[in-house]
Amino acid sequence: MTAVAEPAVSAGTTRLAEQLRSTVGAERVLTDRAQLRTYECDGLANFKVTPAVVVLAENRQHVVDTVRLCSQAGVPFVARGSGTGLSGGALPSADGVLIVLSRLRRLHPVDADNARVVVEPGVINLWVTRDATPHGLAYAPDPSSQLVCSIGGNVAENAGGAHCLKYGFTVNHVLGAEVVLPDGEVVHLGGAAPEHPGYDLLGAFIGSEGTLGVATELTLRLIRIPEAVQTMLVGFRSVEDAAATVSDIIAAGILPAAIEMMDALAIEAAEAAVRCGYPPGAVAVLVIELDGPQVEVESQFSQVEQIARSRNAFETRIAADAAERALMWKGRKSAFAAVGRISPSYFVQDGVIPRTKLPEVLGEITRMADDVGLRVANVFHAGDGNLHPLVLFDDAVEGQADDAEELAGAILDLCISSGGSITGEHGVGHEKRGKMGRQFTAEDLDTMQLVRCAFDPHGLANPGKIFPTPRLCGERPGPRTAADTHDPALGEVF
Ligand SMILES: Cc1cc2nc3c(=O)[nH]c(=O)nc-3n(C[C@H](O)[C@H](O)[C@H](O)COP(=O)(O)OP(=O)(O)OC[C@H]3O[C@@H](n4cnc5c(N)ncnc54)[C@H](O)[C@@H]3O)c2cc1C
Repeated sequence: MTAVAEPAVSAGTTRLAEQLRSTVGAERVLTDRAQLRTYECDGLANFKVTPAVVVLAENRQHVVDTVRLCSQAGVPFVARGSGTGLSGGALPSADGVLIVLSRLRRLHPVDADNARVVVEPGVINLWVTRDATPHGLAYAPDPSSQLVCSIGGNVAENAGGAHCLKYGFTVNHVLGAEVVLPDGEVVHLGGAAPEHPGYDLLGAFIGSEGTLGVATELTLRLIRIPEAVQTMLVGFRSVEDAAATVSDIIAAGILPAAIEMMDALAIEAAEAAVRCGYPPGAVAVLVIELDGPQVEVESQFSQVEQIARSRNAFETRIAADAAERALMWKGRKSAFAAVGRISPSYFVQDGVIPRTKLPEVLGEITRMADDVGLRVANVFHAGDGNLHPLVLFDDAVEGQADDAEELAGAILDLCISSGGSITGEHGVGHEKRGKMGRQFTAEDLDTMQLVRCAFDPHGLANPGKIFPTPRLCGERPGPRTAADTHDPALGEVF
């Protein structure tokens, strides 16, 4: 496991904490070590750094004041939403400030006529759809963590979800953002209009993992709730048949709202946790959802059923009512947490491959796991080719955690060599920056850094994330350092 070194808190940061107390209010500034430890990691708990200072911001002005003071003192800052990220994106800087945004939770009234809504970044994803539903509207991006994750974190990670196959990722649903730049200036990117002239700076900001500034308000696009929604659970006796069905459905010109896949281990875990009633004996299941006009949904469903049968599906079950549909989804959405029932520890991996390569890549992952004597559970957005292999291990067995970490890394290499990517939706964060040099050339990374430098010339916003080594701007003086692709800890030099 990779430990992150914790340098001592500097005198400059200690002085900054005093300034913050007098500016945003002492009750919003934490420096007590015991309290700070609450914020030492995000959802990826194997990386931990205790921040020097935490600011519990309650409004835009608190964010502006905090960022401006950090900029003047040359102290790094990290934004944090709900802390559910799975790549260490909200991992604090040990000699820096963590700006917690979960108290910025204002959700403006839904503008139903224009199908949009303005929210603060700490608003929980699911609250948007909750408020939009009475207007016949919904917010499409639906990460499995939507009960707890924040819109600010979703924007920073360009979050996806089961229904992004048809509706697109967060980037397709954000019209505008109010952003506090790393020097404290407030800017507006995009806006309520559907299209803006000039460079797409909003597009650059979405998915930038907190490295270009802090979002303090977002304007979101809402979609009309479709006339009909039907969900089908399909059981297979082989992973290959399930994977091939996914490609066949899309190749037939059908675009389901969602196609999710779970293998035998993931099914076992979900059954144990929530008794979701998946077909007994299934080695893989697909949860397929179609939505749209009633007649279209009905006709496409019979096509989907035929395709699945032609790939040896042994059970196809259409949800009879909302309760059955909810149970099918409960199994899928609780699967990550449920895996804790069948293994003391596990790594959640996130990679992408071309959908058509699902059968061979899943087979190869099983072979790789067998070689090192580990188990891998697969539960993922199959329609997008967005894999989430969960590498199971036991900390109590010497060396197993290291083997699991190595296997998780090798799976990402397999994704790259299969023509895919090292992340589909969880971001690069702290965890995967060492892999960036595998996917991109040095020139690609330099170009990305130039974008970053345009927003943040001194590298104060969420340093040590995304990039394998500091290269340009104020990040480290001297000539460019070659990207290190093997030791992610080497990047932590800010
Ligand atoms: C069980 C489980 C299931 C998940 N399923 C999915 C899934 O289906 N799809 C998916 O995409 N992800 C999923 N995730 C990952 C995670 O929930 C998402 O990445 C989510 O978008 C993170 O939101 P957050 O509020 O928790 O952000 P945090 O973890 O707090 O932060 C994430 C990143 O955003 C930055 N950030 C936060 N707020 C701001 C802001 N206001 N301005 C600028 N930067 C900011 C942080 O610096 C950090 O880099 C899952 C996580 C868990 C634990």
